[in-house]
Amino acid sequence: ERTEFISFFHHVIDRLEMNIPEHIAFIRDLPKRGGYYVWIDKDKITQVLDNIISNAIKYSPEGGQIRLKVENKRHYLLISVQDQGIGIAYDKLEKIFERFYRADRARTRKLGGTGLGLAITKELIEVHHGKIWAKSKEGKGTTISFTLPLMNQKRRERK
Ligand code: ATP
Ligand code: MG
Repeated sequence: ERTEFISFFHHVIDRLEMNIPEHIAFIRDLPKRGGYYVWIDKDKITQVLDNIISNAIKYSPEGGQIRLKVENKRHYLLISVQDQGIGIAYDKLEKIFERFYRADRARTRKLGGTGLGLAITKELIEVHHGKIWAKSKEGKGTTISFTLPLMNQKRRERK
């Protein structure tokens, strides 16, 4: 359905923020004004954001900031979730969107999980005609970014 993304995103973050560990801080870097409309299945994009943000928390055992950012790129929105956690080795970055892939078993074993979260996330983004990718530095942190096409902002009346 047609959804104003900024208020929707605030709402999702508000809900997650009630349950985050004390050593994690969310930082919101969103446009002050709304008016950015996307055509989404809200439940599915909520699941996408839950998956990405819960990874950011889970793979930040020492805590830190998680920056939630939205940028207007004219024809699409660029949404990113940046953490200061354990990071991912360069040669493993591509694989994290594959089913059942879990980087660095030794370190992630105790954190639990199936390795399906990002594979499902990627499928859900592609259904929405978006793209998703990751940037990371081991020991420094990870940024997961995805796009969502913007709907026409204003429907001009014909004269
Ligand atoms: P789950 O199915 O419970 O989500 P998971 O978190 O292991 O399990 P994915 O969310 O698909 O699975 O992530 C795949 C792998 O990518 C993780 O096992 C982890 O190694 C790596 N990863 C994902 N997000 C991050 C992150 N923010 N920082 C570091 N590593 C990450
Ligand atoms: Mg996960």
